Amino acid sequence: MNDIATSYVKLVLAVGQHDPDYVDAYYGPPEWRQEAEARKRPLPEIRREAEALIAALGTQRPAASGTDAELLRLRHVYLTRQLQSMVARIDLLAGKKMSFDEESKALYDAVAPTHDESHFQGILDQLEAVLPGDGPLVDRLDRFKQGFVIRPDRLAPVFDAAIAECRRRTGEHITLPPGESFTVEYVTGKPWSAYNWYKGGYHSLIQVNTELPIFIDRAIDLACHEGYPGHHVYNALLEQHLVKERGWPELSIYALFSPQSLIAEGTANFGIEVAFPGAERVAFEQKALFPLAALNPAGAGRYYQVQELVQKLSYAGNEAARRYLDGKISREQAIDWLMRYSLTTRDRSEQRVRFIERYRSYVINYNLGQDLVKEYVEKHGGTADHPDRRWRVFTDLISSPRLPSGLTPPGAAP
Ligand SMILES: [Zn+2]
Repeated sequence: MNDIATSYVKLVLAVGQHDPDYVDAYYGPPEWRQEAEARKRPLPEIRREAEALIAALGTQRPAASGTDAELLRLRHVYLTRQLQSMVARIDLLAGKKMSFDEESKALYDAVAPTHDESHFQGILDQLEAVLPGDGPLVDRLDRFKQGFVIRPDRLAPVFDAAIAECRRRTGEHITLPPGESFTVEYVTGKPWSAYNWYKGGYHSLIQVNTELPIFIDRAIDLACHEGYPGHHVYNALLEQHLVKERGWPELSIYALFSPQSLIAEGTANFGIEVAFPGAERVAFEQKALFPLAALNPAGAGRYYQVQELVQKLSYAGNEAARRYLDGKISREQAIDWLMRYSLTTRDRSEQRVRFIERYRSYVINYNLGQDLVKEYVEKHGGTADHPDRRWRVFTDLISSPRLPSGLTPPGAAP
């Protein structure tokens, strides 16, 4: 199996020579990367080898019993599905046309549900009641949120405090690898609001895009999502348990446009709720973050009441992407849709359309990923009233090579 896994890693590196976003992280042997750079393999050749590996995996069924049977089964399914996704990505790079849903199924092993305008309108009506007044709701929400911007000179202390708290909470439930650490950098001119670059050796570089105002909720969101117990911890646990302890090379590479991303984004988003159950988040922010950001702590309750409703609009972003990429609406109409149904301001909606153009159906990984992970964790007893159990199920999930279709029982709707 390690031979197939090694070939898989080399193929991901080879696709990376055609698609600069494909290899999101790699910390395996540097000579494998040099090899890929020295000879740019043609896409049809990579595709043929991927198909051959899938066929080889088909003849090597993992043992059905034994202490590691479940983990070995997951490994087998993981490699097969990651390779199938790679074939789809190669087809897309070669110009194959797929609908938004076909693409997300092929690349991420999942399809986001479709919602029409009336679904979002119901949530907008609730927000209308919370934020009464004249003019478009998106402008009223923006005016309301202006009172919760972190001043640029307060960004670093607020983020540092948020990261320290997320790390402390995570450390109470997860044994973090020795010496794990990350560096935060503030950047501009990117199509995303933050990014985790995993470097291997339990180290991440986290970049935060400061070109648009950063609201107070982003501190905990980003500290959890990019750091603890999100991407940084996910990558570090996979490195520790699967790459180092078991010697599985396939986890030393992270193909961005692959099913692994739904698990990564979904656990990173759900991790916020795991780290701050119930009212604990608002309590911590009132006590620690609002004062550090020079904001009035009295406003925290109402701010998060509004945020909770805005969160429910998350599928509107998928809808904009689906309609735009399927050619049903124009770029301008996609921006309008986001302003109307996601309530993101024009400049933020433009940033999101740039993200959609570059990462396409990747957008489902955040909200659908979060919902699938939540459902999976709760189904395994990790409900909000069993926080310790929730941490355990969550930790198992981020320490194993699990796939989106493995989160839902066969035949169940996503
Ligand atoms: Zn992420």
